Amino acid sequence: MAALMFPATPPVTLAVAGSDARIPVHRVYCAGQNYVAHAREMGGDPDKQELFFFDKPADSVVPVPNGGCAVPYPIGTEALSQEIELVLVIGKEGENIAEAQALDHIFGYAAAIDLTRRDIQSRLKKMSLAYDMAKAFDNCAPVAEIQPAARIGHPSRGRIWIAVNGKILQDSDISDLIYSVPRIVAKLSSYVRLRPGDVVYTGTPSGIGVIKRGDVLEGGVDGVGTIKITIS
Ligand code: MN
Repeated sequence: MAALMFPATPPVTLAVAGSDARIPVHRVYCAGQNYVAHAREMGGDPDKQELFFFDKPADSVVPVPNGGCAVPYPIGTEALSQEIELVLVIGKEGENIAEAQALDHIFGYAAAIDLTRRDIQSRLKKMSLAYDMAKAFDNCAPVAEIQPAARIGHPSRGRIWIAVNGKILQDSDISDLIYSVPRIVAKLSSYVRLRPGDVVYTGTPSGIGVIKRGDVLEGGVDGVGTIKITIS
């Protein structure tokens, strides 16, 4: 093999509950506007909502240990926003996966936060321009420890919530997802081949806020786990 001109970036790895082995992150995909009230607050019509995806760079993932960690306030925004989400991690590769087989491809689940530069998103959406730079930036994907489905099963209900400085901003239930986890996996795999280590954000409920340096964000998905970060 030829020598590399620059050192290759090692993968970000995520902790797995009950194991010393870690998951190397392959890619990060995110479902958009997948809760009724959030689709409305973003100006969408939940009845006509198509399941769509955007992505985040694999190296934007911040592995958040139990007990929490600091996440730096990003450059380029004055309206950073938090989205608490259930994420799933693919454990078995596949494309054009049928909904009925979708759960077989999932290794596990975690609580995660989709950090968003909301001012950039609003500006670009108004002009019908791609809003990648609102969603894909350094440290934009804090993800907690992964809970294997072999331990917790495949959650289809459970409170999803997040508090900022102790005040609840988002409070819903994952049973309110417009498109369920199996439908997300099926649809996403109709676009791309899913591989072990792919992390898939499933969408956020309503209540997105604007967060600042020093804010403490603590949230979770009941039956899955919690996540805590401090914006530094
Ligand atoms: Mn999101």
